[in-house]
Amino acid sequence: MQSYYQATRNFDIDQPVLNGEHDVDVCIIGGGYTGLSSALYLANEGVNVVLVESNKIASGASGANGGQVSGGMRRDQFYLEKALGFQKAKALWCIGEEAKYHAKDLIDKYKIQCDYKKGIAHPNHKQRYCEESKRYVDHMINKYDYKDMTYLSDNEMREVTGSDTYYGGSFDEGEAHCHPLNYALGIAKAAIAAGAKVYENTSAIDYKVHDSYVKVQTQNGTIKADRVILACNGYLDNLEKRLTSKILPMNNYIVATKPLDDETVQKINPRDIAFADSRFVINYFRLSADKRLLFGGGENYSKNLSKNIVPIVTKPLEKIYPFLKDIKIDFAWGGKLAITMNRLPFFTTLYNDKVISAQGYSGQGVALASYSGKIVSEKITGNGETFDIMSKVPRQSFPGGRFLRNPSMKIGMLYYSLLDRI
Ligand SMILES: Cc1cc2nc3c(=O)[nH]c(=O)nc-3n(C[C@H](O)[C@H](O)[C@H](O)COP(=O)(O)OP(=O)(O)OC[C@H]3O[C@@H](n4cnc5c(N)ncnc54)[C@H](O)[C@@H]3O)c2cc1C
Repeated sequence: MQSYYQATRNFDIDQPVLNGEHDVDVCIIGGGYTGLSSALYLANEGVNVVLVESNKIASGASGANGGQVSGGMRRDQFYLEKALGFQKAKALWCIGEEAKYHAKDLIDKYKIQCDYKKGIAHPNHKQRYCEESKRYVDHMINKYDYKDMTYLSDNEMREVTGSDTYYGGSFDEGEAHCHPLNYALGIAKAAIAAGAKVYENTSAIDYKVHDSYVKVQTQNGTIKADRVILACNGYLDNLEKRLTSKILPMNNYIVATKPLDDETVQKINPRDIAFADSRFVINYFRLSADKRLLFGGGENYSKNLSKNIVPIVTKPLEKIYPFLKDIKIDFAWGGKLAITMNRLPFFTTLYNDKVISAQGYSGQGVALASYSGKIVSEKITGNGETFDIMSKVPRQSFPGGRFLRNPSMKIGMLYYSLLDRI
């Protein structure tokens, strides 16, 4: 079944398969937000850049996600301050904020039609989390001078979600939501217009690092490049074994209902905002432009995406909206994101800076991955200050390393998803 986003995409980016030998400044592997925005920024700087994508542009997480344009990092400032100290935590907050505003700047600058709308609420599924949410809102106002966040009481949250399964929580008017595939296609179009060469259905099978260049092998050709950017995220597989113990692919799923009648729309989302709840396995949902409920939830770690997505996602959907039980589901799809041990993005360089990697954004990639192209291109063309901040974020390997990270994570995640229910 195709995704709702594929069915409502503005256009296709039909690009050829790469054939023969190519000699460029930079070769980007992966055509999601990270790769596309890197291509855009580098091409705008006059860099000779080639991007190869295994499938169609944005066929990975960037064309499949929940469309939530979140601020900050996947970990909140309480966690970051405790783990890193206030100054470093604040630096990461500022990068996350820049990423959020940068997404809107790209949309405006390149006139990307992607149904961008303001507002994400974060409802708590347990009453005991509410005190912490209130403290967090106060903290963000007082310590970060962040005025877009307010606290919604139990009643207010139930009014905006239309679900009495929720208690209070925060509402962030500076966050937003959009059609993620149309956002990615808009960046791709801008990158091609700026001079980037983009090849679809072209897999980087392997690369070899030489003293002064890197040679990337694809099924029908080769690319000799001064630098390579790895932008494969949840689809990296074994292309670079030095990274596989640091990032873990995870499957996540979404359904789109049939268009809802006006009464139901008013009941479940009168403000047309997005929601991301407090569960460890987050439920996230919002309305599409044609008033379908787009509901995301449920994850697993299998190599392939599940073939039976509807029951995985409708289970939490029906818990939150029992009156939508048996609603017709028109679309169901999934994608692979990549997480790190501490859920913070993983930026690094390998082989004397010849290979640059930006991956592992958890569920925050709409803003962060599309901003990372700017960060990575600055690293290549001059001022790599933001890259250097990001690359100094502590990172741990998953327990069990490359081979056992999957089973050990499964056990850990099972534990936390059980806690969601208690
Ligand atoms: C279901 C789901 C919901 C999500 N919801 C949200 C959300 O609401 N908000 C948010 O901020 N984030 C969300 N995310 C996360 C977000 O989508 C990702 O963090 C982001 O899209 C990552 O972008 P990327 O370009 O790094 O990776 P991707 O978009 O996954 O792109 C990687 C690309 O690399 C290609 N590739 C891999 N290997 C090779 C190779 N060897 N040769 C050539 N090409 C290769 C793949 O085909 C793929 O297209 C969600 C993710 C999923 C899956």
